[in-house]
Amino acid sequence: MKTPQQVSDWFNEFYTAVEQSPAATAITDTRGVFLFVNRRFLEVTGYSREELLGRTPAVIQSGHTDPHVYESLWSTLRAGKVWQGEMLNRRKNGELYWEFEIITPVHNDAGEIVSFVAVKEDITRRKQQEHELRLLATAFETGQAALVTDAEQRIVRVNRAFSEITGYAASEAIGETPRLFQSGRHDEAFYARLWDELANHGHWQGEIWNMDREGNIFPVWESITAVTDATGEVVNYVAMFHNIRERKNRERELNRQALHDHLTGAGNRRAFERAMWAVGHESGDLSVVLFDVDHFKQVNDTHGHERGDRILRELVERVSGWLRTNDTLYRWGGEEFCILLPATGLEGASILAERIRQWVAQTPLDGLAITISLGVASRLPGESAVALMERADACLYQAKREGRNRSVAEAACPH
Ligand code: GH3
Ligand code: MG
Ligand code: MG
Repeated sequence: MKTPQQVSDWFNEFYTAVEQSPAATAITDTRGVFLFVNRRFLEVTGYSREELLGRTPAVIQSGHTDPHVYESLWSTLRAGKVWQGEMLNRRKNGELYWEFEIITPVHNDAGEIVSFVAVKEDITRRKQQEHELRLLATAFETGQAALVTDAEQRIVRVNRAFSEITGYAASEAIGETPRLFQSGRHDEAFYARLWDELANHGHWQGEIWNMDREGNIFPVWESITAVTDATGEVVNYVAMFHNIRERKNRERELNRQALHDHLTGAGNRRAFERAMWAVGHESGDLSVVLFDVDHFKQVNDTHGHERGDRILRELVERVSGWLRTNDTLYRWGGEEFCILLPATGLEGASILAERIRQWVAQTPLDGLAITISLGVASRLPGESAVALMERADACLYQAKREGRNRSVAEAACPH
């Protein structure tokens, strides 16, 4: 048996321990009226001891906790069991805070419940972090395709947009490296530059061609960020990208329109000038074949302008089909066209011109027999594009004069 003094000492020690405990602690009677609250409890709630003793926890209820929580709390406690759970409470200053609580019923020797002891932990920070994580998860799932790798480039996470663009399910992509999507379109130097940029600046962005699960190659605009830990060591890479095929197609279409004749689809005068400018910087053989439809005015007059248009379209389609890969066809104006033949001397150009003349003469266009006259010229050393075209034009003029449906090469032209 303990002496009354020992009991008193022991009680004082116990009281001090609870009073100084970093866990907010309260004791209530069986109706929930506060009998005791410790210092931490006062700090957390912002109330004084006088304001709380004799009252119930209704003082700190926020009104936002689900009523089921209180029901489960009371039925658990009345059954003599320990209850634990989370509650959203309100401090005296009106601020909301989350608590994790463990409430224990205290029994007397007869087994009756005489009071409840509540020990609480402020989990507001954890709740905020959970909320932030949920927010980030939502952001991660919305918008661009995203993938996260570890420091060794192994994929640890992807989002839904990623699966939509690449065709790979998360389960297929996770554990792989982004090499899975390499299209083979970029050389080693490209990837070396990318890694260099990531290592030096922690960030890279640019256009990159990827390959999807089916083997389709598509362009994306991608931005990669290196994520470092507190010591500056890279722990993750985050890549975000979106498909830019649509944009590319639009760009291509605009370029096509800017450089092509809209009736026939052949290159326009501007495209021709650009091409001439480009080959002007290269030495080596260069020839041009200039041709004009014979008596086309008559064709228009007899069959109508629309049929004339169809004939021009068909002419371009046919001639394009006969050309070699590096030869290009331009609409020089009206029903006059020009073929640019890089790396081709006068002889080769003359043979091709003569062949085209024969093909056209033998092929009805929109059902009509059509002939063309052609002038051929090869660039002289240091000759300008204008001078070259003038000589080709002189040859074409001569072909017309000599009776049409013929080709005349430079050697035969009057200078
Ligand atoms: P040749 O060249 O044999 O001397 O006789 P031509 O009748 O073809 O004479 P020219 O080249 O001077 O006439 C060109 C004609 O081509 C006049 C014009 O009506 C027609 N033409 C020019 N551009 C177009 C076009 O876009 N569509 C159609 N249908 N006709 C065009
Ligand atoms: Mg003509
Ligand atoms: Mg003409």
